[in-house]
Amino acid sequence: MDSGHYTGHIEYSNIKTAIVHTNANNKLVVLGAGESGVGAAMLGKQQGWDVFVSDGGSIKQHFKEAMLHAGIAFEEGRHTMPNVLDAQCVVKSPGISEKTELMKEIRKAGIEVCSEIEFGYRYKGDSKIIAITGSNGKSTTTKLAYHLLKEAEYDVAMVGNIGYSFAKQVAEQPCKWYVMEVSSFQLDDIHHFRPDIAVLLNITPDHLDRYDYKFGNYIASKFRIAENQGAENYFILNYDDPVIKDYLSTHTINSRKIYFTMSEQNSINNEGGFVENDNIHIRFGDEELNMSIHDLSIKGKHNQYNSMAAGISARVAGIRKEKIRESFATFEGLEHRLEFVATIRGVDFINDSKATNVNSVWFALESMKTPVVLILGGQDKGNDYNEIMELVKQKVKAIVCLGIDNKPIHDAFDGVVSAVIDTQSAYDAVHAAYALSEKGDSVLLAPACASFDLFKNYEDRGQQFKDAVRSL
Ligand code: ADP
Repeated sequence: MDSGHYTGHIEYSNIKTAIVHTNANNKLVVLGAGESGVGAAMLGKQQGWDVFVSDGGSIKQHFKEAMLHAGIAFEEGRHTMPNVLDAQCVVKSPGISEKTELMKEIRKAGIEVCSEIEFGYRYKGDSKIIAITGSNGKSTTTKLAYHLLKEAEYDVAMVGNIGYSFAKQVAEQPCKWYVMEVSSFQLDDIHHFRPDIAVLLNITPDHLDRYDYKFGNYIASKFRIAENQGAENYFILNYDDPVIKDYLSTHTINSRKIYFTMSEQNSINNEGGFVENDNIHIRFGDEELNMSIHDLSIKGKHNQYNSMAAGISARVAGIRKEKIRESFATFEGLEHRLEFVATIRGVDFINDSKATNVNSVWFALESMKTPVVLILGGQDKGNDYNEIMELVKQKVKAIVCLGIDNKPIHDAFDGVVSAVIDTQSAYDAVHAAYALSEKGDSVLLAPACASFDLFKNYEDRGQQFKDAVRSL
């Protein structure tokens, strides 16, 4: 094992070190064997690449089986550097930071690195892409836009960060349309990726640890969604977002911009979306869609933004307004996003476990029509709770902290809210919140924090919350 060019075969029972035959001109190394990595490997294999998958952790059984079935070489629990550095192209999982030794070595070697969406893009043919990014609302808007296209009987798949690999879809079941959720990490390694329709929902500080703690880097990464677009492509943007507006005032965008707004409908002219007197308006081409916000199936101001973004995308994609209106009313929102759980003795319980930053909690509180007992806390990402202070003063009667370190919450709200109490399990939090509430109140789980201190992930936190509510 001196040159890093090995030949051999893989034993299923001995997969810790894969032995691969390499051809330096045609070798694709995929880092990270999750949904997107395995998808990229499948597509690479199909397209004739000599594929090697390397995962520093353990690989889920069903992914191992899929790769074995496809005859794809892989290793887990390590990255064998000669094998990795032999690549012509590296497809990197969005979870791997540039700060790792692995990435530093790859960059030093000058190897082309691309994200899975870039790799899938190369092989998508003349299919069209609606790509959706933003700090909050990506999954909801992606699912809604997909629903609008699907209901209009388009040949469409929902892919990307929402949990289904784009590359895998291109390899196994290509469609005419892809509605894609895109994270900033996936945009970091694009080269030619050019969506026909790009959507930027909002930008608030998030994931700054991956961007040298510079908000500007994160903003630039989000705008990369439009960097390869031309005048024939559409870029749908939130006109109310100060960060977006500021960026646009100093940068040139080549695509055709379409805005949506709550407050400045004059800016829309003949194209775009706005809300006026509780009515959502979407203007595009020769049609204007009008619909009461009360007829939207998903509630809250943030979902009006998401609906405008998805609705404009659907109009641009050629769907008639009647169909969009119909589908807006039938859309089922996603679990753990302002999800109504139950009413127990007059108290509504709402699960917004996916509210993992302060901005999403702002929108959750904004949408509440009753006094609120707020369940807050978890792994704090350096939150500034001032952003929600006014809404808390107006609507929140008690705060139940659910986290190991609740000091930042006490620092912000002791003396502002009459009761701020500590709990360390979903069960205790629900029981405490129930005790603090009375008929006509709502108990809202909107933590503003990551869940990893006490839970596996936000889904686990939301599920435990729902189980506890149902046990009351
Ligand atoms: P993402 O995929 O960007 O994380 P989700 O649709 O999963 O977005 O929603 C994440 C959280 O943000 C949820 O708590 C949800 O209620 C809230 N949210 C959804 N849309 C928006 C929006 N447009 N602006 C702010 N918060 C939002």
